[in-house]
Amino acid sequence: MSKRLVVIGGDAAGGSAASQAKKRRPDLDVVLFERGRATSYSACGIPYWIAGTVERETQLVARTPEQHRAAGLDVRMRTEVVGIDTDEGVVHWRDLETGTEGTEGYDDLVYATGSVPMRPPVEGIDAQGVYGVQVLDDGVALRAELDSGRVQRVVVVGGGYIGLEIAEACRIRGLEVTVVDLSATPVGTFDPDVGAIIAEAVRCEDIELVLSDGVAAIDVGPDGRARAVVTRSGRELPADLVVLGLGVRPNVRLAQEAGIPLGTSGGIAVDQRMRTQVPGVWAAGDCVESVHRLSKQRVVVALGTHANKQGRVAGINIGGGYATFPGVIGTAITKICATEAARTGLSEAEAEAAGYSFVTAAVDSTTKAGYFPGATPIRVKMIAERRSGRLLGAQVVGKEGAAKRVDALAIAIWNEMTVDEVLSLDLSYAPPFAPVWDPVLIAARKAFEAVEADTRS
Ligand SMILES: Cc1cc2nc3c(=O)[nH]c(=O)nc-3n(C[C@H](O)[C@H](O)[C@H](O)COP(=O)(O)OP(=O)(O)OC[C@H]3O[C@@H](n4cnc5c(N)ncnc54)[C@H](O)[C@@H]3O)c2cc1C
Repeated sequence: MSKRLVVIGGDAAGGSAASQAKKRRPDLDVVLFERGRATSYSACGIPYWIAGTVERETQLVARTPEQHRAAGLDVRMRTEVVGIDTDEGVVHWRDLETGTEGTEGYDDLVYATGSVPMRPPVEGIDAQGVYGVQVLDDGVALRAELDSGRVQRVVVVGGGYIGLEIAEACRIRGLEVTVVDLSATPVGTFDPDVGAIIAEAVRCEDIELVLSDGVAAIDVGPDGRARAVVTRSGRELPADLVVLGLGVRPNVRLAQEAGIPLGTSGGIAVDQRMRTQVPGVWAAGDCVESVHRLSKQRVVVALGTHANKQGRVAGINIGGGYATFPGVIGTAITKICATEAARTGLSEAEAEAAGYSFVTAAVDSTTKAGYFPGATPIRVKMIAERRSGRLLGAQVVGKEGAAKRVDALAIAIWNEMTVDEVLSLDLSYAPPFAPVWDPVLIAARKAFEAVEADTRS
């Protein structure tokens, strides 16, 4: 009798796991449960579809349910898994269209339910017109509101990268947009000096930034809709629509109820092969925790890049192969208005928390040779361990074409290189692409000098 794999969640992690396992073991029955209306979509593309940069929602879908079915998967759309019995090896499901309920037995189970937007426990948070954005259906609902024509003023609560990307999308649509954030600079994953550059870029686009001020309540009108965000300092920001951009937390409720252990960070604990601590149960994507290769801490990093890799690793292992997910180093990139920002490794605060002693160096340069048409400013910041000079972190901010330079530094960090070694790298150069000393090399030189000066002192 053929074995059965059940997958909960049909996007990046779940879709990858299901496809890989089926490809490697064609005799495997694979049942994929997805409560939404789409499979294998790019949530990352939602802001660009809302802005109109991407024309059609369907362009965000990499693989439709029909395409998955053609590859041999049994895809159950609009069907939510509502319980897992790990002793019996069954999941309980409910069809959200018909209300029908049933059970499905499994030999292997992949838990890939993603994450859920954080909702601060303030009055009015559940009012109509308050949106979190996580899955494609959220994006569809948000866009329908914006298309209705009744929204003129948008308040985004939380200045994380998703909040800012949605803020920009709304601004491109001609709406008045305000972003409120408790921190002094937006996108808290960057150091404050880089955050200040991001803040300036946001303001340049006529997006109002209210910083060092959190949300205290959402004022709700008699019609049950949000009509203003009230901040802790007492400001009242009128809003026809509120978007939550406070970050996400792993969607682990079902796992907890089923006794699948979580790790210290709140994500599901998995080993390198994406096995949970319950035999036959695997997990991947935003709902799991990963090992940070520099801090050695367990962390939840909700990024599509990891979800796809982890799903693939789970699928290969379930399919009889051998694959591991070796951890993360905190690489991320975003475009906020006309400014790109990227980071890798540890920020100053993270390096501090991990117990590293370090020096920093930042340089301002240009993306092409200074005399070349189209050269724009770029800032590269590096964090290097004292004495050893090991590169611990880097942040890059600038205009078009600037931020992808971070990838070279991610490779350097992954391979535990020192800033001295980075300085000697054979990087490409021609005037249309870089100054003769690439900004990455200048930053490494400065960081090396800072390590030397510190060692001498
Ligand atoms: C606006 C936005 C922009 C982003 N931009 C980037 C970016 O630029 N770069 C990047 O790397 N990452 C980005 N991300 C993050 C990235 O989209 C996620 O990390 C990735 O989608 C996680 O994949 P996943 O499969 O783990 O979870 P999800 O994509 O959340 O998929 C989980 C799926 O499980 C389904 N599900 C949940 N519970 C159940 C259940 N009980 N039964 C059945 N189905 C269930 C959900 O409907 C969902 O479709 C962005 C996210 C958003 C929202």
